[in-house]
Amino acid sequence: MIIDTHTHLYDADFRTDFDDVVLRARDAGVCKCIMPAIDISSFDDMCATERALEGFAYATIGLHPTSVKENWREELDFVKGEFARRDYCAVGEIGLDGYWSRDFIEEQKTVFYEQMVMAASRDIPVIIHLREATDDMYEVLERLKGAGVRPRGVFHAFSGSYETYERINRYGDFLVGIGGVVTYKKAGVASVVERLPLERMVLETDSPWLSPVPYRGKRNEPSYLKEIVAKIASLKGCDPSLVEEVTTANAMKMFNIG
Ligand SMILES: [Zn+2]
Repeated sequence: MIIDTHTHLYDADFRTDFDDVVLRARDAGVCKCIMPAIDISSFDDMCATERALEGFAYATIGLHPTSVKENWREELDFVKGEFARRDYCAVGEIGLDGYWSRDFIEEQKTVFYEQMVMAASRDIPVIIHLREATDDMYEVLERLKGAGVRPRGVFHAFSGSYETYERINRYGDFLVGIGGVVTYKKAGVASVVERLPLERMVLETDSPWLSPVPYRGKRNEPSYLKEIVAKIASLKGCDPSLVEEVTTANAMKMFNIG
């Protein structure tokens, strides 16, 4: 049994063959999926998918850094309202993205900080997106530390070095989400996987994006988690069943789903 801790199963890319995608996921041993939120525009689809797959797919709440634009205050208020209204297994996907644009990087930091404080107020784990904004991340983590906030959660699609992970992990209790990128040639994350104990990893696809080899360039889906498990097992020199067992236990504990 494996858990996909990061899939956007509610994305329009899955609409035409949704039932088959879910069937293939279950056949591949996927027992649960966590669906990180993006913004208001996809919120209803995410909730509808959760209702259709009760006990299998779990919604989260959060504002994605690339959706931090002029209307960020309205989006953030929506997230806070939803967080107060019902229980979510995680606050995500939140974080910082300096790759697509730095136009709203200061607003991104504010939105990220506020969502980190919000999650910690109820001890809910976070799902963090970090892309080309590592120094900005340290800045926010320092502020959180100063405010006495000690977060826990997952760094999704982590692309930093092992040293960066160690430094980040001093600010909280963070697992690393390992996805399709680990199967790519010359992927830096492979060396992180080699050094990181299985107890600090969870599996993720980030589907419909970031397909693992041999599906690279095509639409990704939760059943492809198998390729990621195989790659981690080969890097660790262990049996795939051990990767499955440990990462599933990690995800169940972190997200309190089980
Ligand atoms: Zn994502």
